[in-house]
Amino acid sequence: MTPRVIVVGAGAIGCALADELTRRSAAVTIIDAAVPLSGASAATFAWVNAYDKSPTTYRDLNLRGIDAHSRRSQRMQDDIRWFHQTGTLQLARTDTDFAALHEQIKRHQEWGIAVRPLTRTDVMNIEPRLSSTATLGGALFPDEGWIDVETMCNHFLGRAQAAGAAFHPFQTVIDIDIRNATVTTRSTDGDVHRHEGDVVVLAAGNGTRDILAAAEIELPITDPGAKDSLGIICTTGSVPRGITHVLRASGIALRPSRNAGITLTDHPTGAVWDVDDPQIWTVPGLLMQRARSLYPFLRDVSIESISLGRRVLPNDGLTIADWVGRDSSVYAVATHSGITLSSYLAEAVTSEILLGTRDHSLREFGMDRFAP
Ligand SMILES: Cc1cc2nc3c(=O)[nH]c(=O)nc-3n(C[C@H](O)[C@H](O)[C@H](O)COP(=O)(O)OP(=O)(O)OC[C@H]3O[C@@H](n4cnc5c(N)ncnc54)[C@H](O)[C@@H]3O)c2cc1C
Repeated sequence: MTPRVIVVGAGAIGCALADELTRRSAAVTIIDAAVPLSGASAATFAWVNAYDKSPTTYRDLNLRGIDAHSRRSQRMQDDIRWFHQTGTLQLARTDTDFAALHEQIKRHQEWGIAVRPLTRTDVMNIEPRLSSTATLGGALFPDEGWIDVETMCNHFLGRAQAAGAAFHPFQTVIDIDIRNATVTTRSTDGDVHRHEGDVVVLAAGNGTRDILAAAEIELPITDPGAKDSLGIICTTGSVPRGITHVLRASGIALRPSRNAGITLTDHPTGAVWDVDDPQIWTVPGLLMQRARSLYPFLRDVSIESISLGRRVLPNDGLTIADWVGRDSSVYAVATHSGITLSSYLAEAVTSEILLGTRDHSLREFGMDRFAP
């Protein structure tokens, strides 16, 4: 019998899941409260990495994430290329940075992660528009890169729909029956609908917390209103001959963007202010100032768009991918680093749902680790 799977949420995780479930012959219905990419996936830095991640099981999960994107992406035609495996260039700007980077290189090599130490000349050769005074040297992580999230999600969702999946935008899940795989939605015009399946997968990002709360189940994720969950992503207008790599230095991270501009962020800087504090709007200027100290040609370039995003943060920082309660027909995926993990989680979660056995790579990421 073809299993009927309802996927709630059309972010990076939901779109990747819908594609994989459909590809493996499930009958899929996708529901979103708004349009695709209305949550964290719309305001993400989208850096694909396993950088300094711990514990080992979580690092391995992220390495599987990089590998899955790489495999899938190689099967794509050029016009729908979404994984840009540019490598990450980590810069050292001071002697202290340099000593810390040396330790990081050693640690990553011990973990079996590809990384190459670079002299200042090496750095200038691979990123020639960088200011020659900006760095003492660096490290290249060649397997990493960034995702064009919009192209990836459009591709996954489009392919799922072409294979028969139904997509219902503007329907908010307001109730869930976890024994009978049924969700109740309210559309923007107030109509209430019931959707019945054999399995419901909750991939609604921070929204999953509210959906489960309606069934009196607590999802152990950080309150999305908390300061630490907030991030600011800025993108410049198009920059001819911009930058090549994902580039990270103290106080700033940059990467090429889908509009041929440059996307900027910095986690600690973006998470200092409350969202309604006017001081938050000093962050884009600060990031641009730091970017210009690395790339003087950015003097004449300005920021074209700013997005505020709320991270999906399980209480221990690690992924949640598990059935919700015993004998339940509801599966929940809630994770930070969801861009890195999307293709792999789609494969592993689909196997769990269709085969009914726990995937060994997800064993450490169950709900039971939060049990008192
Ligand atoms: C500032 C920032 C920077 C980040 N940087 C990186 C990075 O560099 N690399 C990386 O790998 N990850 C990064 N992340 C994390 C990553 O973006 C997220 O883990 C990922 O986007 C989560 O995707 P998702 O599909 O689970 O959730 P979301 O993208 O939030 O999607 C959830 C969807 O569910 C829908 N929804 C919500 N509630 C309901 C409801 N009740 N009914 C129906 N639909 C509902 C929403 O409309 C939304 O479309 C970053 C996140 C932020 C915020």
